[in-house]
Amino acid sequence: MLAKLTVACGPMFSGKTEELLRRVRRTFYADLGVQIFTPSTDTRHLDRFVSHAGTDFAALQVPFVPSVIRPDEPFAHRIRSNVDLVALDEAQFFAPSVVDEILHLIHVRKMSVFAAGLDRDYLGRPFGPMPALLAHADEVLKFTAVCARCRQLDAATMTHRINGGAEQIQVGGQADYEPLCRPCWVDATRTAR
Ligand code: ADP
Ligand code: MG
Ligand code: ZN
Repeated sequence: MLAKLTVACGPMFSGKTEELLRRVRRTFYADLGVQIFTPSTDTRHLDRFVSHAGTDFAALQVPFVPSVIRPDEPFAHRIRSNVDLVALDEAQFFAPSVVDEILHLIHVRKMSVFAAGLDRDYLGRPFGPMPALLAHADEVLKFTAVCARCRQLDAATMTHRINGGAEQIQVGGQADYEPLCRPCWVDATRTAR
């Protein structure tokens, strides 16, 4: 397996976690080693480490449970030597140090890394280490969702916060966030101000 960095980005509900699970499953079928990490910021972790499509680890029937780590915690030393793919979900929550950790895994330990995360926050600002990860990526996947307002297929590139305050990080689900196309997001964000 060629060691490379793949970054999957896009708004909420665009299928980033679905794609992560798909790749994890295929790697497992190839008898390769996989380890998954999710930041403790995402309080939906472990039992709730599910994609919005409902695929969970029990459904995968593979012995993969994501390790929950602090967003600023070094994790390279926790990765076993027989691992070929390291998958990170909610990559936007990790500290900037995650970039060097990932590059170390790829360059020195010859592992592939798949990082899924929001490219922008609810105000449209580049989110956490995602800009740097996208710059370092060998493969970039930018997913879209159905716009929750105008229903245009694959038009939603933005995430709109329906409920909540002004903190950049507020973990929520379908009741708190909706994927919107840019015109709908501009409307929604303007009304909210
Ligand atoms: P992400 O990790 O990007 O937030 P998930 O992989 O968890 O996304 O979920 C993707 C799934 O969310 C889709 O396959 C679909 O079943 C569901 N979904 C809910 N709302 C939408 C929407 N507006 N557009 C597309 N998919 C949606
Ligand atoms: Mg997800
Ligand atoms: Zn729209």
